[in-house]
Amino acid sequence: MKNLKNALLLKQLYLLKQLGYNYTSVTAFKEDEPDLTLPNTLEKLRKQSRECHLCDLSKSRTQVVFGEGNEDAEIMFVGEAPGMSEDSSGKPFIGKSGDMLTKMIENVLLIPRTETYITNIVKCRPANNAEPSPSEAHSCHPYLLKQIELIKPKIIVALGATAYHYLSGDDSPISKVRGNIQEQHRYKLMPTYHPSYLLRNPSAKKDVLEDLKIVKGLM
Ligand code: SF4
Repeated sequence: MKNLKNALLLKQLYLLKQLGYNYTSVTAFKEDEPDLTLPNTLEKLRKQSRECHLCDLSKSRTQVVFGEGNEDAEIMFVGEAPGMSEDSSGKPFIGKSGDMLTKMIENVLLIPRTETYITNIVKCRPANNAEPSPSEAHSCHPYLLKQIELIKPKIIVALGATAYHYLSGDDSPISKVRGNIQEQHRYKLMPTYHPSYLLRNPSAKKDVLEDLKIVKGLM
């Protein structure tokens, strides 16, 4: 799989676009360049991500937040990006929104959080908790795709609009698509609200409850 090579090429094209180029015939990679295929175990992939400098988020991160959980999980949760607590601990979804996610999993799906796998669209924290740029999200996408390939979840819950957008390619508002299971190539995708949105808008908890009950029914 040449996802990492594609991400490098994409990054270069974004840079050229920012410089005002509309078209380039640049040949970025040659046959004698090192093999950039991503490794086939989560541990090796985690190790590789720790040394990743594919996008600018590497400059400001404290730690790469690769993801954690059951490597054979039936269900995977994908959020947007690590926040400040995650950046300093190296773990995804801790603090208040992490507690909210844990409650969502344990109170509705009735399984321990450790039975699931949890990660984000980008593995490094954007400064000021900004939304990751398309260039950053695309640079990091090969890691997520490889995680999905290795874990083989039956269901992925996209937490919030950004996660949904980069998993589905659809720009629809999360309020319109949440609760609707979508068939992807190898898994079912359930878009729902991000736990941090629930902290700001507690009235949306009932919607997430409904969405997760559907997920529970599919498990
Ligand atoms: S966000 Fe992803 S692509 Fe960017 S430096 Fe971190 S691991 Fe690499």
